[in-house]
Amino acid sequence: MALRGLLRLGELRIRVLDMAQARKHYVDRMGLHEVMEDADGLVYLKAWDEHDHHSIVLRETDRAGLDYFAFKVYDDATLTALAPKIEAFGLAVKEVPAGVYPKSGRRLEFVLPSGHIMQLYAEKEVIGNTMGYHNPGVTPDEGVVRGFRINRLDHVLLGGLNIDECARLFTEVFDFDMSEKIVDAETKSSMAVFLTGSTKPHDVAFVMQPEGGRFHHVSFFLESANDVIKAADLIGKYRIPVDVSVNRHGVTRGMTIYFFDPSGNRNEVFAEGYVHYPDVPTIVWDTDDIGHAGFSQDNVMRPSFYEVLT
Ligand code: FE
Repeated sequence: MALRGLLRLGELRIRVLDMAQARKHYVDRMGLHEVMEDADGLVYLKAWDEHDHHSIVLRETDRAGLDYFAFKVYDDATLTALAPKIEAFGLAVKEVPAGVYPKSGRRLEFVLPSGHIMQLYAEKEVIGNTMGYHNPGVTPDEGVVRGFRINRLDHVLLGGLNIDECARLFTEVFDFDMSEKIVDAETKSSMAVFLTGSTKPHDVAFVMQPEGGRFHHVSFFLESANDVIKAADLIGKYRIPVDVSVNRHGVTRGMTIYFFDPSGNRNEVFAEGYVHYPDVPTIVWDTDDIGHAGFSQDNVMRPSFYEVLT
């Protein structure tokens, strides 16, 4: 199996303004599973078809946004090998001992040229998806798949400066591909870069913003476009604020809905999209066709897309 190195986006810590409201949104409405609350009041969540202990951590504070995002890597030797390469790229790497982050092995932490804190870890407690690993069948027990029927954390879109430098880190040091790119029609400078270390259309993306460290959205994968429509029904039922209702991205070809958590953090549910292979050239869109790149069914780019971040 060829996928080694960075495996996937494994964890995001999201800042929320009110934990009771956040719980209602992420657990009761969206249907993520709460697996733990720690002594500091951080709440740990997982989607049903993830095997590791958690993928989302919520932290209550007075400013919404993203504390950090973390990729899981294949094994501890991968972490050891990556540390000097990240340093050679020019980023200071801090090692965080095992156990500082609950249920997790040691981590490498560094700040991206876009201002975001990124971590890498190789180990996290495996709790499974409730189906086991021997004759598991195809669907878990009643009640495990619930709410928006979220399979797993899919990708994150980050806003900041120096997005070409971030792309260079991911492609040169982490062996990712740039699957797609949006460039300014006149200057050809990068407006957004989409990066994959797998066969997904993207695992992480960066969009140009005048200041660093901004959080555009976290995206959750649903099994089908039909599940996206069903999630839209629940979003309407529960009066969840919507940014863009059901549409298909030109970029990635994913079916999408953007909506907001009670703290104003943007969430996405996402299904379909193409399969990426590393021999496929980067797809380039320019800002002349930005409506189609963003929302291909009505070709309208919403100003909120570039203006509302946490
Ligand atoms: Fe997305």
